[in-house]
Amino acid sequence: MTKKNRLRFAPSPTGPLHIGGLRTALFNYLFAKKTGGELVLRVEDTDQARKVEKSQEHIENSLAWIGIDFDESSKTGGQFGPYNQSERKDIYKKHVNVLIEKGWAYYAFDKKETLDFHRLDHEKKGKKFIYNAHNRLKLDNSLSMDKKDVEERIQKEGYVVRFKTPSETNVVFNDIIRGEILVGTRDIDDKILFKSDGMPTYHLANVVDDHLMEITHVIRGEEWLPSLALHVLLYRAFDWQEPKFAHLPLILKPTGKGKLSKRDGAKLGFPVYALEWEDAVNPRRERLGEKAKDEIYVGFKEAGYLPSALINYMVFLGWSPGGEREIFSLDELVNEFTLEKINKSGAKFDPQKLLWINSQHIQGLSTDKLCEVCEPKNKDIDKDVLKSFLTLVQPRLETINNLKEKFLYLFERPATDEGLIKKTISEEVKQTVSAFVLKLGADKSLGGQEIRKLLHDCAVQNSAKFGKVMGFCRACIVGKMEGPDVIEMMVFIGVEETGHRLKKFLG
Ligand code: GLU
Repeated sequence: MTKKNRLRFAPSPTGPLHIGGLRTALFNYLFAKKTGGELVLRVEDTDQARKVEKSQEHIENSLAWIGIDFDESSKTGGQFGPYNQSERKDIYKKHVNVLIEKGWAYYAFDKKETLDFHRLDHEKKGKKFIYNAHNRLKLDNSLSMDKKDVEERIQKEGYVVRFKTPSETNVVFNDIIRGEILVGTRDIDDKILFKSDGMPTYHLANVVDDHLMEITHVIRGEEWLPSLALHVLLYRAFDWQEPKFAHLPLILKPTGKGKLSKRDGAKLGFPVYALEWEDAVNPRRERLGEKAKDEIYVGFKEAGYLPSALINYMVFLGWSPGGEREIFSLDELVNEFTLEKINKSGAKFDPQKLLWINSQHIQGLSTDKLCEVCEPKNKDIDKDVLKSFLTLVQPRLETINNLKEKFLYLFERPATDEGLIKKTISEEVKQTVSAFVLKLGADKSLGGQEIRKLLHDCAVQNSAKFGKVMGFCRACIVGKMEGPDVIEMMVFIGVEETGHRLKKFLG
């Protein structure tokens, strides 16, 4: 029996889950589902200093809202747990010792000031200070002192464990999206793997866990590509088979220049998180006496996007099935997905396209389903009215938020531009609509077809063009030249209200 593929999404709880992370989770999910594999949620929370309160909760809730479920996680459990790295300290300690014993890692005691000095000194000479084979014997570490001293200093002072990067060789490895990659070890520094606070760094914990959790494919953002050579060296130092790698292209600002950030969203008025996020008060600003204000970022959920639409949009950020089709359900995407069709180049975030995809997903819902998703967000619309309202406006919806506000003219008399009325009225139109209003009376039994026939007959009798008549009626009912079908709007607001809005402009 061939072994199942095992995928993982491994966020660090250093803040809210950004659309980039969400897309990484989605690609892992699609590949796992497509190949009948398993998906793990592992929380990489070993960096205590960068940990942000409520971040893990935000990540988990965002994934749940979008519909990505995990076979294993700290919530669901699983045979490879614990799934929060902060609960796996002993495992990393054991493994870093293995590397030290094998000669692949060493203790270092260098003071921050010393390293800063070297960095600055190199900079002044136009060079870059790299802690590696070229200078490690001149620095303060277990390679440059005898065993007894090392043991004493470990007991007495703070230390880190560094990886002993092999000197002057090439590491060759493969990325599914980018092909073969060759990196010279000359420019790789002896990265810190373990700190004296008993915590591993990202690199060690990530590699150890991917191995122990039997991960077969690592799909993650391009920002991790520069770390890949080190990770491959670590696998090889442990004598482990490395997983397959796929590094996803960056998500770029709508202008295409630079990585998409939360500031872009705030500036240009679109979300970058699935769910709302409130930044804690910035202590620096507070210290400076600036007005302390929490920053609230509205998420896609609060902005009225459907999770299915966000999924559909995100998958196109760096992937395409080929062909013209753009609207897919999650199940259809599972069927279509292949890692080979992911491109290398950055993907521009296009909020307009997302809005269009959202509208397409809204059109795809049955009216009952649409009612169900709109109801909690549109409490200001009477429950009994909601269904007929949605039937009327469904083709025009881009999001499911603030619907009353967006179609206020269906609930309240609009302010009408006199200029528009002048533009749309003519003698024949006036005669037609006057006759229509008279015949319409207050007959509530009239349906759409009958109203249409009535208006049409009046137009014929008064030699008016039906299109022109409709234009004038629209101006009276909506106050602008927009909105759903005129007759359907008449039915929705009722004959009495229709009569009222039309009469007002008949002089
Ligand atoms: N913890 C890393 C992050 O938050 C994970 C990178 C990886 O997937 O290896 O991006």
